[in-house]
Amino acid sequence: MRTSYHNHTLWSDGKATTAEMIEGARRAGVQELGISDHFALTADGRRFPWSLAPESLDTYVEEIVRAGQTTRDVTVRLGLEIDYFPGMAGRIGELLAPYPFDFLIHSVHFVDDFAIDLNAGPWEDFAQDERDRIWRAYWAHLRAAAATGLGDIIGHFDLPKKFNYHPSVDLTAEALAALDAIAGAGMAIEINCAGWDKPVREAYPAPFYVREAHRRGIPLIINADAHEAGDVARHFDRARRLAADAGYTEQVRFERRTRIPYPL
Ligand SMILES: [Zn+2]
Ligand SMILES: [Zn+2]
Repeated sequence: MRTSYHNHTLWSDGKATTAEMIEGARRAGVQELGISDHFALTADGRRFPWSLAPESLDTYVEEIVRAGQTTRDVTVRLGLEIDYFPGMAGRIGELLAPYPFDFLIHSVHFVDDFAIDLNAGPWEDFAQDERDRIWRAYWAHLRAAAATGLGDIIGHFDLPKKFNYHPSVDLTAEALAALDAIAGAGMAIEINCAGWDKPVREAYPAPFYVREAHRRGIPLIINADAHEAGDVARHFDRARRLAADAGYTEQVRFERRTRIPYPL
């Protein structure tokens, strides 16, 4: 069995339609495809070109559900990748409650107004103590995101490493506290294979944290974070080896927010 749950379409910053992503899943031998377009809601109502607009939720859900009903050989799962912004989880939860989501990914992409993973330029320009501050704030945000209980899966655990700017101080304790919060919230963690195609050349999370996640009994899911149809199962064999090396023997899939384990 092969599943892939973290995938973007034209509804947010993906480059393919839902139908094209389903065709990509078919070609890659993926039997269960989750669509998880970006959903960012801020207190000040700011708009992001890479995010699904709140007023498009109805049509988004309709399209994905219909795609599922009309596709025989691939099961289509309805999801979102929700952006964590402090204090917004309650409102987002209320907004999403009427819809039949199968799973929600909760991700931190922002520290204050800074978009961590947009481009390398700012990271290069920052003094090291500013990088350290962003890393520290990121771990605090991730911990808080888990504690909201809003998501089923925490997205790309150690995202700030993307451009290879690492903290100069040891923040392992902060990262482990975030893992504890994920375990406490009963969430799953993803091996996000996109990292292997970024400057850091490493999946999210790093192998050490995959082992620590396993030690805490955190369920695992292998995801591509695909933005094009050819990527829906990228590096999955490598991810399975990483998971097995960390002690995992199963991963999970979702139906209507219920977790279903299956062999790795
Ligand atoms: Zn993301
Ligand atoms: Zn994503």
